[in-house]
Amino acid sequence: MNISQTIAAQLENASWIRRMFEEGARMKQERGADNVYDYTLGNPDVEPPPQVLQALARVVSAGLPNSHGYMPNPGFLPVRQAVARQLRRDTGLPFEPEDIFMTVGSAGACNVILKSILDPGDEVIVLMPCFSEYRFYISNHAGRLVPVETSEDFLPDIGRIAAALTPRTRAIILNTPNNPTGRVYPEQVLRDLNSLLAGCDHEILVISDEPYKHLVFDGNKQPEVASLIANTAICNSWSKSQALPGERIGYLALSPQVRNRAALRAACAFTNRILGFINAPALWQLVELEAMDSTVDVSGYERKRDLLCDSLTRAGYDVSKPEGTFYVFMKTPIPDDIAFVRILAKEGVLGVPGAGFGRSGYIRLSLTVPEQMIRKSIPGFAAALQAVSA
Ligand code: PLP
Repeated sequence: MNISQTIAAQLENASWIRRMFEEGARMKQERGADNVYDYTLGNPDVEPPPQVLQALARVVSAGLPNSHGYMPNPGFLPVRQAVARQLRRDTGLPFEPEDIFMTVGSAGACNVILKSILDPGDEVIVLMPCFSEYRFYISNHAGRLVPVETSEDFLPDIGRIAAALTPRTRAIILNTPNNPTGRVYPEQVLRDLNSLLAGCDHEILVISDEPYKHLVFDGNKQPEVASLIANTAICNSWSKSQALPGERIGYLALSPQVRNRAALRAACAFTNRILGFINAPALWQLVELEAMDSTVDVSGYERKRDLLCDSLTRAGYDVSKPEGTFYVFMKTPIPDDIAFVRILAKEGVLGVPGAGFGRSGYIRLSLTVPEQMIRKSIPGFAAALQAVSA
């Protein structure tokens, strides 16, 4: 059976992250796992908070009636009530349980909202560099990705966004704290984007993909996108904030300020079903009912950020510290990031070329690795820099 031409083409260009992961597996076999420093995958290396594990044990042993069956497609009502309460507290907006759809992670939420709003050929603005899967999520629903470069320091460039708007623009995906850049978009930029969109002659939805919302460093907080931009749909999950990416639990929330809210609510309940998710995992909804406020300790990531960035700076690299997430997006010492990633790999160090996120000249390094590994990898970084400086 031939596979679809679309999928064949997508596979051809598919994720550098996966490619480097496979390269890592090969190198580990060759050199021994201790001699490969793999910074490629954003897979949390900490345990979920104790509150989450305790809630899991309680939910499993409680034997609640009807807790393993089908449910309304948007999820268990008490869970959606609790998410709505949390969002009311955080944003000051009157979220209702009917605005909340429990989803299969933030990825599921993005697909549900895109499926609900896109007709073939509709345009979705994505700020570059970006999480590479957005390209596929948009094409899943016959949309067209319109890339818009961010500023030199990776913040949304309102002028460029304005220039990219067309009558076919249906949405803009915002991701802050940002993968891969680690930027946390400040309040003023979000206000400026809101003013731009408010002045448009047709409605444009901001899809705020927020799985790193609680991973912000230096005692700072991510400003609430939904409080600052009226027409917002939030995609969120506990994948990163509670180190649960394999459990696939998140939510989509429609801001009470979204226009045509009733129709959109009905569409999202339907698309969650017909995308084949049916509903988010029942067990994990019940766990989050008890544990949704808990978050992993970000100080571990912050310590590793400081260790890696300070060591790389001392070694001669040009690197800025991320404000959030668990990624360092560093300039490569030569413009060809793919060539540099290959040179680094010879030293046993694996990272993802910026080209994989749509910005050449950079490399992404994930901090989800042990501190000891960071220390051991620094001579490899130094040797690679020397190799290209010679
Ligand atoms: N959005 C961004 C920006 C991500 O980096 C990721 C995962 O790495 C996702 C969405 C998917 O998150 P989830 O595991 O909650 O589906």
